[in-house]
Amino acid sequence: MRAVVFDKPGIENIRVAEVENPRPGPNEVLIRVKYAGVNPVDYFTINRGGTPMPHIPGAEFAGIIEEVGVNVKDLGVGDAVVVYNRLFDGTCKYCLMGHEEACVNGKLIGVATQGGFAEYAVVPAANAIRVPSGVNLDEAATLPVGALTAWHMVVTRAGVSPGDLVVVFGATGNVGSYAVQFAKMAGATVVAVSRRADKVRGALMDLGADFVTTPDEVSKLVSELSNGLGADLVVDAVGQATWRISFSLVGKLGKWVTAGALTGGEVTLSLPSLYSTEASVIGSTGGTRRELKLLLDLLSRRRFKAPIHARLRLEEVRRAFDIMFGGEDRVGKVLLTP
Ligand SMILES: [Zn+2]
Repeated sequence: MRAVVFDKPGIENIRVAEVENPRPGPNEVLIRVKYAGVNPVDYFTINRGGTPMPHIPGAEFAGIIEEVGVNVKDLGVGDAVVVYNRLFDGTCKYCLMGHEEACVNGKLIGVATQGGFAEYAVVPAANAIRVPSGVNLDEAATLPVGALTAWHMVVTRAGVSPGDLVVVFGATGNVGSYAVQFAKMAGATVVAVSRRADKVRGALMDLGADFVTTPDEVSKLVSELSNGLGADLVVDAVGQATWRISFSLVGKLGKWVTAGALTGGEVTLSLPSLYSTEASVIGSTGGTRRELKLLLDLLSRRRFKAPIHARLRLEEVRRAFDIMFGGEDRVGKVLLTP
């Protein structure tokens, strides 16, 4: 089969090559990959190295089951599936709490295993989630990283409420474009923040943003909208570059939540500014299978949109990363089509 592969870490080392087809083990399924989402995690895996090496990246993908292992009973050849990309043991304290995303033996498909930037991929049957008929496979392929991370962060961890004033940094990104939608779905007033606000305003308003602004102008806007009280919830997966401004927006009893640190992860926090405002700083990572199934159900009923910016061939993988990291005025996902 054809796959994006690298022999040693470094984006300059990725290439499309002919590699041996994977075979499913007793509890696994073989998927013919139709669409694979391109995410920062893939870029970091390429630059740090994956397991095993040579490595096929790709942590987010959907396709059609081509073959099932002998123990697999509830999935069959021809089923459309999307991959829940957290490997989990199902037996640890956190798995038993229903939190596969926090599994003590957790790993990521495409990072700790071969991923989906390929014609075929093998995953545990427990990670293959059936796609309902009302959802297209390209839409489904945008859910496991971007949408699931956004839902778990904004809805489950931060508990967004009707009437909240919510500020979303990195609003055009894989996670941000969903965070805007889910905050709006919950009844919040949504301020979307993007460095390219003037160029992406229309697209972000289509996703439900009430206001679109830049990092330089967001403080003034939030102050006006809240009569100086600040935001109820700030969503910021951008990291170091926006932390100072984003945390300053959190009002009393407000929340600041993150699920990533694209621009760096070291920040300073003034403890008095935390306790005197009774603010909460919340971490979030990935989501659960239950949440992914819920997202598929909501999408089948068209309760939100799965924005797709571009569909590229495997050979265009480098261009996909260029687009993702800001070469174009992107809103939504860049997909590879093996
Ligand atoms: Zn576990």
